[in-house]
Amino acid sequence: MPRWILFPALLVVACRATAPSPPPAAPATPDTATTSAQEAFRPTKAVRWVLDSAEHRALFVQVYRTATAHVEDAAGTRKAGTWAVVADADETLIDNSLYQVERERQGLGFTSESWHAWTERREAVPLPGAKAFLARVRALGGRIAIITNRRESECPDTEAVFRIHGLVYDVVLCRPDDGPSDKSARFQAVVQGTTSAGLPPLEVVAVLGDNIRDFPGRSQALRAEGDEAFADFGARFFVLPNPMYGSWE
Ligand SMILES: [Mg+2]
Repeated sequence: MPRWILFPALLVVACRATAPSPPPAAPATPDTATTSAQEAFRPTKAVRWVLDSAEHRALFVQVYRTATAHVEDAAGTRKAGTWAVVADADETLIDNSLYQVERERQGLGFTSESWHAWTERREAVPLPGAKAFLARVRALGGRIAIITNRRESECPDTEAVFRIHGLVYDVVLCRPDDGPSDKSARFQAVVQGTTSAGLPPLEVVAVLGDNIRDFPGRSQALRAEGDEAFADFGARFFVLPNPMYGSWE
């Protein structure tokens, strides 16, 4: 056998003899386990609908467009500075779906502590149509009162979110830390001109919310009533879709 044939053959044998054996399969470490869990994680359908569906965005655009047309009509017969729009904040004007995703990823639900930490991060973002709607109300001479059940201690961070994103408003009325979630008293303060912002008495021409309780005198009891009980919706009440949480649960 020619030596040029033998030499490579010997080299291969030699290499095989000295090559390190393949490493044993890596044991599952906490890091790889976490990665696998994250890859497997999928938010619930309700959250995915908010995050991914065209329908969610279309509904927000649709409702804000309808509300804008209503406010334009109302402004035509009212003096600037005499009327107002009342709107809820969370899942009406600003989007907290990232908080929902983070809690679901951890296998956890809502807690007031985790919610407070979320509000401190100021990471909520405007929902589709919200910013243009508020700007239009302001341009038409309307006042904007945000009535939210975020706690009073969360109000500064909430107002910061509005400022960061250029969402205009005249007053944000948070829930007193030990106060009721019912919004009636704060709504009446807007009507009677007794808010801390020093606004005059205002005629509320439109109310926007994602929760039936955002609307004065309304509750889940409405569900059992006839269509006539919903006459204000689409007229002066405008409801945005929120399948993630609410008083319906
Ligand atoms: Mg809300």
